[in-house]
Amino acid sequence: MEKEEKKGCKLLPVPCPFQGHINPMLQLGSVLHSKGFSITIIHARFNSPNPSVHPAFNFISKPDIFLEQQISPGNMVDLVLLLNAKCQEPFKKLLAQTINHQDCSHPQIACIIYDEAMYFTPIVASHFKPPNSVLHDLVPEHYPLRFKDLPFMKPGSEEQTSQLMPNLSNTERSSATVFNTMDCLEQSSLAIIQHQKQHTIFPIDPMHKLAPESTSSLLEEDTSCIAWLDKRAQNSVMYISLGSIASMDAKEVEEMAWGLANSKQPFLWVIRSSQKIASEWMEPFTKNFKFSVRERGCIVRWAPQKQVLAHDVVGGFWTHCGWNSTLESICEGVPMICRPCFGDQNVTARYVSQVWKVGWQYENELERGEIEKIVLRLMVEEEGKEMRKRSRDLKHMAEASINSDGPSSNSLNELVEFIMSS
Ligand code: UDP
Repeated sequence: MEKEEKKGCKLLPVPCPFQGHINPMLQLGSVLHSKGFSITIIHARFNSPNPSVHPAFNFISKPDIFLEQQISPGNMVDLVLLLNAKCQEPFKKLLAQTINHQDCSHPQIACIIYDEAMYFTPIVASHFKPPNSVLHDLVPEHYPLRFKDLPFMKPGSEEQTSQLMPNLSNTERSSATVFNTMDCLEQSSLAIIQHQKQHTIFPIDPMHKLAPESTSSLLEEDTSCIAWLDKRAQNSVMYISLGSIASMDAKEVEEMAWGLANSKQPFLWVIRSSQKIASEWMEPFTKNFKFSVRERGCIVRWAPQKQVLAHDVVGGFWTHCGWNSTLESICEGVPMICRPCFGDQNVTARYVSQVWKVGWQYENELERGEIEKIVLRLMVEEEGKEMRKRSRDLKHMAEASINSDGPSSNSLNELVEFIMSS
């Protein structure tokens, strides 16, 4: 199918308005745009992506209700339930208007692509014509998971979680599923899903490597850390980031800081400004800490993470195992220290450490001596070198999946054909 022929087809991606969900959806939009589709992003006003960074897309903002609330691990489930309850009617109106506008000068809607957390979308879409797909992460096999790794949310949210979960895993309402994963990571789980669900699936990843370079960052990236990285030695820097929602409390920050300082290894640490760390406590601590680490440490509020991980001085990633961060690390061959916080991060950490063996999980309370030990194990010791070698091997497998005849590229072409033939 030639690129020109698809010009008349419009896709409506509906991202969930959290950073870790916006990124892969916009990347998928970019990939499909490069295949010739017209892209109109239906998004929340809350955490809205910046349209000027994506001039090729159209954006339609949809009213929602939690504009002022801070997202935290503790209220994620409530926010998702609220979002789905309140967005259904406005989305229905919006879709009706969009469909009524279709004529020769407005492209036909070929497909709605929604995040699994935006499960109100297929309910609304069923009133209209367009086929739809769903983008979400993979439900793994039970091995190597333990009960404590299962993706429950925080204690106390069991009732809400049990309300949410059946909706997330409901693929009945969609005509196909785009999985944000690749064969070399989860081949056997993909085969089981394909077999059990009798549902068309498209595993397509690493999406950020397939998509033309652009950023969907909601926070301003502090690029000054790249100049700092430029002055370090190869594989010498430990990068620490917990993504956009997870955080450490003040005591954990203190233990982390001294563990890093005592390891004597260079580090780049992202501490978001939204993290609640008492400033009166931080003041004397940061003074001593700065004196101790001097030029060896760099702290930023938000980093250009993909660029950081691709820098050849970065030799390790202390991560909360958000799915995007994990994939970005795998794609650059950077071994990980996993410290999951909530939800599917526990599952991912187990896969990183037990199946792909490109990281270790730090399971105990954060304590400076333990932190120093595990940082040195990864950055200096022989075991760390072996881990880095395995990470490089996995990186090459991820690269192969997007070669012109690689599984992800084939899956993408099949998705394009599927949309066009629906
Ligand atoms: N990220 C970033 N700069 C930072 C920290 C994170 O650009 O300083 C990006 C990171 O590259 C990833 C996303 O934010 O694409 C976080 O998504 P992830 O799934 O890892 O975690 P979440 O934020 O959903 O917990």
